[in-house]
Amino acid sequence: MREKPWEGYIKPSKMIGNLYFAGTYDASTHIIDTGEGLILIDPGYSESLHMVINNIWELGFKPTDIKYIVISHAHYDHMDATEALVAMSGAKTFIGREDLPLLEGEIYHYPIKTFKPDVLLDDGDVISLGNTKIECVHTPGHTDGTFSFFFDVCEGTEIYRAGMFGGAGTNTMVKNFLEKNNLPPDNRQRFIDSIKRLMREKVDVFVGNHVWNNKTDKKLAELEGSEKNPFINTEEWNTFLKERMSRINSVIKNDE
Ligand SMILES: [Zn+2]
Repeated sequence: MREKPWEGYIKPSKMIGNLYFAGTYDASTHIIDTGEGLILIDPGYSESLHMVINNIWELGFKPTDIKYIVISHAHYDHMDATEALVAMSGAKTFIGREDLPLLEGEIYHYPIKTFKPDVLLDDGDVISLGNTKIECVHTPGHTDGTFSFFFDVCEGTEIYRAGMFGGAGTNTMVKNFLEKNNLPPDNRQRFIDSIKRLMREKVDVFVGNHVWNNKTDKKLAELEGSEKNPFINTEEWNTFLKERMSRINSVIKNDE
């Protein structure tokens, strides 16, 4: 986490239809307004929770509107604030089953505020609330229990398919990291298989697991006063996945 978390502030905004960005530059937090409460994806760092809470109010919601908190993977930049957000909202929490050892601090250690998840996700699970059904796809590699999410967002009469790759970073698959944390090298092959699987999905709105995945901040700025929604882009998902594929291949090559 940067020394001055407030320097990562991003003005909260609707991205498209019932999907909102309420996170910061350092950790993305998304909100889906299902009509029967909010689904929040990744609460982020404890140090930036005050900004996320402020963003929720600024978007016209309140913390107690959050019914479900869904976590993409058990790294602290995505989930450190979960315990506090659950205390404020009473929301039910969801995380990948295979990330439970990470959550319990059994694999590698970092300063984390952990929580007890209500639901452990398995491949193919669907999270339903109000008008929204999130299809959960197990995409291991970045962590064992990384999940990717697909759901429809409605804007006017149009329906768009939104997709998030829940853990796209190759940092946890470089040789040093694997060795230091006693992780199996086949995490890289699992990552490659995950990318191949994700490539089969058709995505109109690429939702970033981090701001730099889909240039969220740039698009939010572009969106203001623009007639065309920059989040609608049917090419971006596959372009990103191809770039991730060449990245993991170069990680493997560099370590040989
Ligand atoms: Zn991570």
